[in-house]
Amino acid sequence: MGDTNSGQPKWTQVPATEATPRYSFFVQNLRKPELDDRDYRVIRLENGLLGVLIHDAHADKAASCLSIAVGHLQDPDDVPGMAHFCEHMIKKGSESYPAENDFLSFVLTNGGVQNAGTSAAWQDYWFSINPSKLSGALPRQAAFFHSPLFLSNLTAREMNAVDSENKRNLQNDSRRIHQLSKSLSRPGHPWTKFGTGNVKTLTEAARKKLEEDGRPTEVEDGDGGPIGRAVRQQLMKWWEEEYCSGRMTLCVLGNETIEELTKLVVPLFSRIPNRGITSRPVFEGPVWDSEQKGTIVFVKTFKDYYELSIVFQIDDQAPLYHTRPASFLSHLLGHEGPGSIYSYLKKRGWIFELHAGISSSNPSVTSLTIGGKLTREGYLHYEEVAQTIFNYIALLRDSSFEQYHFEERKQLNKTFFRFQEKSQPHSYVKSIALRLLDPVAGEPQDILSGGTDRLEWDEPAVLQLLDSFRPKNARVMVMAQVHDPSVSGGGDSWEVEKWYGTEYRVRPLSAEFINKADQPNCNPELALPKPNPYVPEDFGVNRREVAAVSKAPQLIPDDQFWIPKAHVKIHIKSPVAYSTPRNAVLTHLVEYMLEDSLADITYDAQLAGLHYYVSSDSKGLSVAVHGYSDKLPLLLDTVLQRLKEIQFSQDRLDVKKEELERAYKNYYLGQPSNLALDFTSYLLSTPWWTPAQKLEEISYVTLADLAWHKQELLRKVHVETLITGNVSEQRALDIADIIERHLTSTPLPQAEWPQERSSLLPSASAHVVRRTHDNPKETNSALVYHCQFGDVSNIRLRAILRLISHVLKEPAFSQLRTVEQLGYIVTTLLHVASGTIGFSFKIQSLKSPTVVEERVEAFIKDYRHTLASTASATFAGWKEGLATKLLEKPKNLAEETSRFWSPIRSGHYDFLRGETDAALVRELTLEEVLAAYDELLLPDGSANRKKLSYHLLSQRLEEDIQPASSQVVVGDETLFKAGLAYSATALPVASFYGKVARNGVSRM
Ligand SMILES: [Zn+2]
Repeated sequence: MGDTNSGQPKWTQVPATEATPRYSFFVQNLRKPELDDRDYRVIRLENGLLGVLIHDAHADKAASCLSIAVGHLQDPDDVPGMAHFCEHMIKKGSESYPAENDFLSFVLTNGGVQNAGTSAAWQDYWFSINPSKLSGALPRQAAFFHSPLFLSNLTAREMNAVDSENKRNLQNDSRRIHQLSKSLSRPGHPWTKFGTGNVKTLTEAARKKLEEDGRPTEVEDGDGGPIGRAVRQQLMKWWEEEYCSGRMTLCVLGNETIEELTKLVVPLFSRIPNRGITSRPVFEGPVWDSEQKGTIVFVKTFKDYYELSIVFQIDDQAPLYHTRPASFLSHLLGHEGPGSIYSYLKKRGWIFELHAGISSSNPSVTSLTIGGKLTREGYLHYEEVAQTIFNYIALLRDSSFEQYHFEERKQLNKTFFRFQEKSQPHSYVKSIALRLLDPVAGEPQDILSGGTDRLEWDEPAVLQLLDSFRPKNARVMVMAQVHDPSVSGGGDSWEVEKWYGTEYRVRPLSAEFINKADQPNCNPELALPKPNPYVPEDFGVNRREVAAVSKAPQLIPDDQFWIPKAHVKIHIKSPVAYSTPRNAVLTHLVEYMLEDSLADITYDAQLAGLHYYVSSDSKGLSVAVHGYSDKLPLLLDTVLQRLKEIQFSQDRLDVKKEELERAYKNYYLGQPSNLALDFTSYLLSTPWWTPAQKLEEISYVTLADLAWHKQELLRKVHVETLITGNVSEQRALDIADIIERHLTSTPLPQAEWPQERSSLLPSASAHVVRRTHDNPKETNSALVYHCQFGDVSNIRLRAILRLISHVLKEPAFSQLRTVEQLGYIVTTLLHVASGTIGFSFKIQSLKSPTVVEERVEAFIKDYRHTLASTASATFAGWKEGLATKLLEKPKNLAEETSRFWSPIRSGHYDFLRGETDAALVRELTLEEVLAAYDELLLPDGSANRKKLSYHLLSQRLEEDIQPASSQVVVGDETLFKAGLAYSATALPVASFYGKVARNGVSRM
């Protein structure tokens, strides 16, 4: 991995041939993770586009991402949202592929996914696809950038799409606060811009102009009339000014050789024009000047929580990628071990969680933020919380760092990169294309690591940065749904942020506060971290070559990934865990209190790449540990011992109850479409306790209740364990011994294992459940339209459902979202529960759910004709696209582990479901798919159809239209659910219970 080839020429130019224009490639080797078997080539096209090509012989999915150093910071001042609008328009139709849904349809039917995004300083456009189709997808992607059509008939529709996207975000606190902090920057700085845009911001400039000319100013459908046509003209002008190949980067991954990929990519992407503009826009002047610094901002949130953050603007960190001083400091500020800010504030009962991080949008805009969610008490003591953070900064300033503070980080970063595993190809190409945008972030040989594998220590840079973290340079933000006058000052006057309507107050920090925060640290409980005992040392791997990789878990060492990492998952099934809403709350509190009591000691492990999770569900408690196998048993032992011996304290219980109570309350303010889906699942699954039911119980919970419940929870249990990765047979048995040692309880007989069941809708049913959203300001309503197909163990039906779901995805989206513009969120979902399978539409809309439901049914009827007349080659292509997707291999150990774990958790033990279903999909005929479509989906009175829809109504709905008389409107949800029959519970496809060992620990 060393720099063996420095001193040689770095780029070689390849002359043009008839088929391939001239380009250059980087001749040195890239620094790669140890087990990375892919080939890489960095290319630079004549038009300035920089790209990375990746050959992966084993890839069963290809991917590509094009990024561009243009974002909403480049929006024209009078057209906020222009970059975002461009992102919407550019992907729909090009000269060579003029059909608006050509690309979407090509990607989705060939097993892929695609999306695009617009941020402040960049945009990206990406997709994944079956590898054999990469050569068909790349010309389509490239055409968006060399010859987009910006189809005029889509103008009004896409402006509306942007508008409904903005409406979806209006109640989202993190977006509201992000925009507020941008809006409160130095007036005139591009950072103050509003990026999403809406119909008004997109059309205002054009409207003004037309009004001056005395012309009509109504936005019409289709091309939008005179206004829409003017906006489209502005868009194309803007595109010509900003979309330059010199600002673009590309990353393509496929199983073609590097030479083949080069021949594919170079001609296509060389066609994108270079406009001769600066490749990386940078802005003049600071984001904040003296007006913005040294201030405190009180913000009213939409959900009920308290938060404090302290923000500093810092220099661009990209050129410092070998030393990373800001990241070193954010690591210390966000530390959770003994002596840390978090540890101290937690002891005072003031904080739920703490974070510190750097965000960089553009070389001119980089900030470091420290903050976290507070308890009510923490909010009332917000000044002391802020002073603690400044105390810690003062401590850092006056301390001398020990060598291990830096060496550990250097060592861990190096190890992380060395054993980095593969990830999903579309995520991988996205991250590389983005990194390429930063020309100083590493020489090409550092593109994969970003330089993290060879960090250097630059103490002067760290000290210089620390010296700038003074209260006079900071902005403190204090957030609450309802502010206490003792905190925010009295009076009713609040200012209102322009784009989201967020209410806030800005005050200068008081001289007294600044003076106190600038003093040396006076808090003796704060200290720098001690050496980390979890830094891994042994990276030996038990490598075993096998002819065929296992598809089901067995007691054998890893046969596939050969990294020094392992996963242990433990499911502790207990019949008391979820038997009542009260028990569900108590189990949840056991989980919260356990994590809480472990935070101090497990933080070091986390830093060293060793993680643990505790979670509760309807069957019991789960404990999972993963990371470098070397010290993993040590962490598992620590977690399970704590579970066994934990002593609960009243003050921590009070804090955790407050946290949980607030989560239950805020739940009902969530996004309408997500809530409608949850409410549907509640009706169709048992057991399922709602947050409202749990909220009723939480205030009655006492310390004694919790201690008693924990005893009961672990008194009689059935434990299932999955161990994957770099673990020998002996090591696995040692791990099982740790588990048995700490979970010594009476085995739970199989008849008492907790079970999940589905509710069965009656045949020939069409029910509608209606409820109003709790938030009076929410303008969106939501519809979930669910058709229950049948039994999950009916494998042929399951294959048919999968194919119907695969086929409907794109046309449903194109029709209901793109053409009919029902709303920003339009999704179809395949529903696989413990006993049943089904198909759902989920739509969030400003329109009445009754109207949306009619549109869904019209779509199902219309699509029946398209389906019936499908050409046999097209049908075969669909089947192949789906089968390839079902047979996709796990990309890393974590994916493999969750593939094994999910059938264990469900109780089906159906490890080969993907293979089974793929084989059946390949056999299906169009006739049987149509028959199932008619019988189970088509709303025309079939005797076997079972439909349930959920209407979640906005309080602001202009006109509520009642469902048609053919629908049965459910009066009482609880009674309705009580009247439904249950499915069978999950039955194992193969017996795994021959090997139940002592104390209920079953091994596999
Ligand atoms: Zn969008």
